[in-house]
Amino acid sequence: MATVAKPAIAPMIPRIAPREDLNPFRIAQIQFDMAAEFLKLDPGLRQILRTPKRILEVSLPTKMDNGQVKVLTGYRVQHNVARGPGKGGIRYHPNVTLDEVKALAAWMTWKTAVVNVPFGGAKGGVICDPKRMSKAELERMTRRFASEILPLIGPDQDIPAPDVYTDSQTMAWIMDTYSMMVGHTVPGVVTGKPISVGGSVGRAEATARGLVFVVEEACKLKKISLRGATVAIQGFGNAGATAARLFVEKKAKVIALSDTRGGVTNSRGIDPIKAIRYKERSGTVVGMPGASRISNDDLITMKCDILVPAALENVITLTNAEAIKARIVAEAANGPTTPHADEILARRGITVLPDILANSGGVTVSYFEWVQNQEGLLWDTEEVNLRLQKIMIRAFHEMVDTMRKHHVPPRAGAMILAVGRVAEATLVRGLFP
Ligand code: GLU
Repeated sequence: MATVAKPAIAPMIPRIAPREDLNPFRIAQIQFDMAAEFLKLDPGLRQILRTPKRILEVSLPTKMDNGQVKVLTGYRVQHNVARGPGKGGIRYHPNVTLDEVKALAAWMTWKTAVVNVPFGGAKGGVICDPKRMSKAELERMTRRFASEILPLIGPDQDIPAPDVYTDSQTMAWIMDTYSMMVGHTVPGVVTGKPISVGGSVGRAEATARGLVFVVEEACKLKKISLRGATVAIQGFGNAGATAARLFVEKKAKVIALSDTRGGVTNSRGIDPIKAIRYKERSGTVVGMPGASRISNDDLITMKCDILVPAALENVITLTNAEAIKARIVAEAANGPTTPHADEILARRGITVLPDILANSGGVTVSYFEWVQNQEGLLWDTEEVNLRLQKIMIRAFHEMVDTMRKHHVPPRAGAMILAVGRVAEATLVRGLFP
């Protein structure tokens, strides 16, 4: 793969050194413009595809446990629904911005198109600090958010799911609020639900499982043995922690882990189960026995075969891209690598498995969950994982074929594939009115 990694994207990136533009939506548009250029899309179509279809901003008056009311701000953005209902998670984070949600919604459009599931792209976010909120406060805020975005969501319209600092409980509250308002139970309005209310087996670990499937394929092409390969994981939420566990099941060696408070490293390997248990007890992996401390910055540039950014955007940038020593970067997070960093990594022959493919296992099993809800089906774990494997491997090879056709690195290959599919759907539907 490294041999086709010619930095064909270089002329598309605005030269604004010395400091990079880290606005996620502008980054998403740079990535889109590059694909549109390769596909020679006409200017009108480009305008349609690079702009979100619908944006809703809502105020969420929420009663806190001390009796005071806090008015929080939330967003739901539908980027594109040409290929099916909007689909994408809801993020709770103090740093949420509208531009971040717009970027994440656009990446969902390309992600569902890369794996070819019949959804569009959407995303939601609430500016809040969930780590400092009680469960009761989170429930009240979530129910108010669900009721405010009610006109946009629905199993045929727009289907939320978990993202950063939201989980199956959050989805259960949204599903219940929606169901109460419409007067009957509608499991298909969200995915990533608890199993007891229509969630799918395999959904919780799907993002990480999908990532490991594509890393395995990339390793075959790069002639790296996953057995014994060293893995560093930045971010220890659902995706990062599950990836650590699955890599070890494949006999790879997880040599570093981190969360918001810092990281831990051991060249002989860290037991992910012990790390998960330690974090459950103390709220962080930092300080776990049998591993020494490492900063998040040093983890990113440490010597390893596979680097997995599994937290937030903009962790691989102009500042550290030259210092990355991994052979494969597998993006479990959305938007962890900037366009300038992408260019540097491509030149250095480092394979970046892009977010829209690498973390698409989550939305793929979300699709399975929605299908089961709509049809009243219940698949077992084996069926879910086999179907996931088939889709991830197919998407990986379609990306590689596109890379070879256009002589571009993996992200450009995945984007050209995805944008081409959405463009085709938009053209064949035609313009209303
Ligand atoms: N939040 C996840 C993502 O960024 C999952 C979205 C979904 O399942 O709809 O892909």
